[in-house]
Amino acid sequence: MNTYEAKEIRCLVAGGAGFLGTNLARRLLEQGVSVDCVDNFSTGRKANVADLARYPNFRFTKLDIADSGSCNRLLRRRYSHIYNLACPTGVPNIALLGEEMLMTSSLGSLNLLKVARRSNARYLFASTAEAYGDPEIFPQPESYVGKVDPVGPRSPYEEGKRFGEALTCFWGRKYDLNVRIVRIFNTYGPGMSPEDKRVVPQMFSHLIAQQPVPIYGDGAQTRTFLHVDDLVDGLLTVMERGVSAEVYNIGGVDQITICELFELVRAVTGLSGSAVFEKHFTADHHGRWPDTAKIQALGWRQRISLADGIRQSYRNFLAATETCHIGMNG
Ligand code: NAD
Repeated sequence: MNTYEAKEIRCLVAGGAGFLGTNLARRLLEQGVSVDCVDNFSTGRKANVADLARYPNFRFTKLDIADSGSCNRLLRRRYSHIYNLACPTGVPNIALLGEEMLMTSSLGSLNLLKVARRSNARYLFASTAEAYGDPEIFPQPESYVGKVDPVGPRSPYEEGKRFGEALTCFWGRKYDLNVRIVRIFNTYGPGMSPEDKRVVPQMFSHLIAQQPVPIYGDGAQTRTFLHVDDLVDGLLTVMERGVSAEVYNIGGVDQITICELFELVRAVTGLSGSAVFEKHFTADHHGRWPDTAKIQALGWRQRISLADGIRQSYRNFLAATETCHIGMNG
């Protein structure tokens, strides 16, 4: 913590049972900050919360942020910082949880902004690279307005996040609240569930099970990948040093195709296995690449290379998978 004494800080992390929320909460707790996590477990895991429960300054409340009545109890608490990371994730989940995505990013965001206003807390909204849709320019700066189909199959996630961004900025201006938005690009690392359908854990789980790894489309689509420790650095940087009502990309610096990622995962893990090319179940985006100049101007840097990060994540993934099996058999 650079600007505050840890004891003065009480953070609310919404989506705290999820991949990013758990990693963020752990970092804050290790710094001596008091952390309240709320989550409805739609895509989060109880095991993540159990891990955090060993910290004395941690509190968890099962709560749906889109339920205004349940959020009233948060109005009675006082926070200095609110991280709104809550949203069901995973492209395959859009067909199942599209309505929850829309309601969480809209009504859920409104409920948390009310809590922020009541506490006069700094507020951070976790948006996504998908707010740019299928981009036409590379890399994407924050000023790019994107190319999104408002009624396409991915729209519940994309448009929900765009609504959440609009609401965040509007409340910032109307009520003079200290708000900021981060557009997060693909992130990977410890804490991802073995059942997670996102590309890195899916490659690990299929290779370990000696099953062909599904690659959607021709695998030539590009992405960048950022280790979760670097992502948490980015969240803390934007919360502490970001300018109110501004948007900041956070993502990996180097582009890689999905086929190249598959080769890298095989090389780093030493696992052999083949890929099976499948038709994408929804319109995929052909590329994503963040312009990170704005967050770098705040002092943030990517520190962990993709090869090192994949190596470390794989070790952690193996340990988590074994724990799961022991838990199921024991
Ligand atoms: P995750 O699915 O692991 O975590 C999201 C958490 O939000 C889950 O624990 C889920 O149960 C919870 N949640 C969903 N709806 C809720 C509701 N109505 N009330 C309370 N809790 C609710 O995903 P993640 O990777 O940790 O992502 C965190 C945030 O970052 C999300 O908002 C996501 O859209 C955004 N993001 C993540 C990535 C990435 O690569 N991980 C990329 C872009 C954006």
